[in-house]
Amino acid sequence: MSVRVRDRSAELGARAVGITPGGVHSNVRLAGPGVFFERGEGAWLFDADGNDYVDYLLGQGPNFLGHAPAVVNNAVAGAARRGSVFGAQHSLENEAGELFLDSVGWAERVRFGVTGTEVDQAALRLARAATGRSKFVRFEGTYHGWLDNMLVTTVDGVTGPASAGQLAHHLDDTYFLPYNDIAALSATLAERDDVAAVIAEPVMCNSGAIVPRDGYLQQVRQLCDRHGVVLIFDEVITGFRLALGGAAERFGVTPDLGVYGKAMAGGWPVAALAGKAELMDMFAGGVNHSGTFNSSVPACAAVTAALTALREDPPYKRVEDHGAKLMAGIRELGASHGVPVRVQGLPMAFHVSFGDPDQVWDYAGMARLDQVRYARFAEVLVDHGVWVAPRGIWYVSAAHSERELEVVLQ
Ligand code: PLP
Repeated sequence: MSVRVRDRSAELGARAVGITPGGVHSNVRLAGPGVFFERGEGAWLFDADGNDYVDYLLGQGPNFLGHAPAVVNNAVAGAARRGSVFGAQHSLENEAGELFLDSVGWAERVRFGVTGTEVDQAALRLARAATGRSKFVRFEGTYHGWLDNMLVTTVDGVTGPASAGQLAHHLDDTYFLPYNDIAALSATLAERDDVAAVIAEPVMCNSGAIVPRDGYLQQVRQLCDRHGVVLIFDEVITGFRLALGGAAERFGVTPDLGVYGKAMAGGWPVAALAGKAELMDMFAGGVNHSGTFNSSVPACAAVTAALTALREDPPYKRVEDHGAKLMAGIRELGASHGVPVRVQGLPMAFHVSFGDPDQVWDYAGMARLDQVRYARFAEVLVDHGVWVAPRGIWYVSAAHSERELEVVLQ
């Protein structure tokens, strides 16, 4: 464990790492026992008191390339000088789109948006329009976004009552199944003829780091084909992180639609929906997905710069090596403190928790049960200069190197 202990016990008091109010803003921040950051650089965060922290939340959010990557920021600054375009195509959009499709590998069309939530909704709408069915299969433990867009649509006077009506029965419209249980999915799709889409986070990174069992995604693909159901991979976290082509490449399974965000633009707010032409071309036929800042000039420049960086120097092997060492190190750390720490997941994202190692692993349940113990552990880590997620999920990014590993494991 790092020796750079900061004595902030008085300042922290009894506050656990967790949801804390963010000062004058009404925003609620994910993590932070009284720490306000001033800036980030590479894998490091610096707080207002001059302390530095290795950031192991880095690989979850948009900063997979590290904080403030110069190549991306310079490209954005250059694009900003070119002015913006509203309601028409621009050349940077085409450039970003071509590079995006070439990187993802399997998709034929892409549309840029701003948030994963909005793009997930576009994918679901598209699946409904394509199949004429209304229901979705979702899995326990996944997160696909916040409900921000839905209520606004119900009061909208342009798309009107049709979309409001479509949304009225929305919450009854999902079959909620356990992940990695192919029998449950098979039975649901055999019994129901109203399922438009199966939506999955191929590696669930929001309630643990839950990896698909061997062959599971292939079986999901086959079932969707057999029943004429659209398969959507929500790659908002896994995209460009597990491999250039995301989880689809890593597990060798092609969805019909893929949703991307976070890592695709080096820290800038861009999301994307990619997919097969027959589905994506339905947007031209009237399926709606629009937003003022979709495909903005600086956003497209950020995508091109970030993807170029990932292609020129693919970080995936480094990320795997670092993650594997970190996982082993955390296990050892637990053992040396007599704490039964469990570490599960992929080297790029893994879940640290406590408990009896022989007990059957219930990711979603364990994540909740261990919250308090993990939060205490996280406070100790933060005091040692390691910034981690309050839910026990650690992410490794392209910016993490041996130097950061030493800080955690010394
Ligand atoms: N899908 C997944 C898997 C996510 O992790 C998130 C956000 O964390 C979203 C969708 C929603 O993306 P956004 O917060 O950009 O709306």
